[in-house]
Amino acid sequence: MTTPQQTIAHFINGQVTQGDSSATQDVFNPATGQVTGQVALARDSDIDAAVAAADAAFPAWADTPPIRRARVMFKFLALLNEHKDALAEAITREHGKVFTDAQGEVARGIDIVEFACGIPQLLKGDFTDQVSTGIDNWTMRQPLGVVAGITPFNFPVMVPMWMFPVAIAAGNCFVLKPSPLDPSASLMMADLLKQAGLPDGVFNVVQGDKDAVEALIDHPKVRALSFVGSTPIANLIYERGARHGKRIQALGGAKNHMVVMPDANLDKAVDALIGAAYGSAGERCMAISVAVLVGDVADTLVPRLAERARDLKIKDGMNLDAEMGPIVTRQAHERICGYIEKGVAEGAEMIVDGREFTGNDIGGDSTEGFWMGGTLFDHVTPDMTIYKEEIFGPVLACVRVPDVATAIQLINDHEFGNGVSCFTESGSVAREFGRRIQVGMVGINVPIPVPMAWHGFGGWKSSLFGDTHAYGEEGVRFYTKQKSIMQRWSDSIDAGAEFAMPTAK
Ligand code: NAD
Repeated sequence: MTTPQQTIAHFINGQVTQGDSSATQDVFNPATGQVTGQVALARDSDIDAAVAAADAAFPAWADTPPIRRARVMFKFLALLNEHKDALAEAITREHGKVFTDAQGEVARGIDIVEFACGIPQLLKGDFTDQVSTGIDNWTMRQPLGVVAGITPFNFPVMVPMWMFPVAIAAGNCFVLKPSPLDPSASLMMADLLKQAGLPDGVFNVVQGDKDAVEALIDHPKVRALSFVGSTPIANLIYERGARHGKRIQALGGAKNHMVVMPDANLDKAVDALIGAAYGSAGERCMAISVAVLVGDVADTLVPRLAERARDLKIKDGMNLDAEMGPIVTRQAHERICGYIEKGVAEGAEMIVDGREFTGNDIGGDSTEGFWMGGTLFDHVTPDMTIYKEEIFGPVLACVRVPDVATAIQLINDHEFGNGVSCFTESGSVAREFGRRIQVGMVGINVPIPVPMAWHGFGGWKSSLFGDTHAYGEEGVRFYTKQKSIMQRWSDSIDAGAEFAMPTAK
């Protein structure tokens, strides 16, 4: 069955527009392998148009009282709740993740909109009466101007919502450049923002890839840029943005470990590993891709993981009992298979080979899609490529270590530091682990510790370039600049010029 193809265009100054783009890229449904649409690829003139619209909208939007900006966010929130399943369906159709997981993604994005509704409180400044006789001093935070967001394929709703609700509520105007692999949700969010009463130009979407990103970084009117994606690109964007003197937060890739201690509840640990390794086909920056099995835990755990990996319900994501969907693209499928081959060649023990998945039970006409099963390796060592590099697929590597100190050292030596988890029933192990681990987001008996909207998200080491984490109060700080005002009135000004450094009097 073929589905009607659609063109996915830009959203500039409140209108959907094809702009000057003549180039397009195919968009696929990964479950069927069929092309479902073409996404426009922006030219420099489209970027110029989006930035110009945002720049023109900025003075009035920045002057709009925060409480009125918050009211637009409240309306957007209501509309999101009304349309959340339509958004989730759009995600499943283009990304492939199972519908229930897509619903969770939308819900976690909505959390950030709820946080942004509190912007009047978040922007409240401080004030010191009488810093010197007759002089008061206060600080306030003001928006930056035009800011841009570049987002990855794996969370086409949630990751943009890590950025634009906070940026817009704080008084900035935003240009979003989503992933060309699953671009439809961006236009749905733009439409809901317009329905919520957001003035034209405050939120814009330009579709595209590398060229669009470079045009945005280099554009003199773009004051700050948030990026989420792979580490090499995050690094490039951070360096290029910094050369222009811009604020950049660039969140990169990951290799997340989960330590299982001998005293852990092993039933819960197996459930956690299976869900966190194979959920969303491992295409999550917080997926667990390494199980660090301490002491003799591996002898019990590996056979149980193998059984569960073989039994995964891998189906078209619109089936409500599906646990794992397809891989996002044919190219990603090939890349993951390449890593599996390398794992075998470098001496890891293959326990379950996801390449052998036959897809008998996928459902519908999905046989041409980008399917694979879950892969499980044991006896993986730190020198192997499948340990060192981010695979971003349903591949779990088990590493055996003698004790918790070796586990912590192993993780601290890794290039990435996004998320980590430790399953234990010991309070002192948990405490020590939390304090010593060199990773930005830590879970104790929580496999995927994605911080809530008001806490902020970000990794360490090669998982984040820049100073501030996404959303939460760090997000507000990223999208605003601090101004200090010191004020006095003539009654308290002494006559005569002062040549000495002023001090409190
Ligand atoms: P990607 O780096 O390929 O693409 C991310 C964005 O950058 C897309 O919008 C893409 O169009 C653009 N882009 C691609 N190549 C570019 C180039 N050469 N120059 C400029 N821009 C370019 O990432 P992806 O495959 O879409 O997403 C998966 C990656 O994102 C994984 O590495 C994953 O770990 C990471 N990720 C990280 C987080 C986090 O919070 N740290 C969250 C989600 C995803």
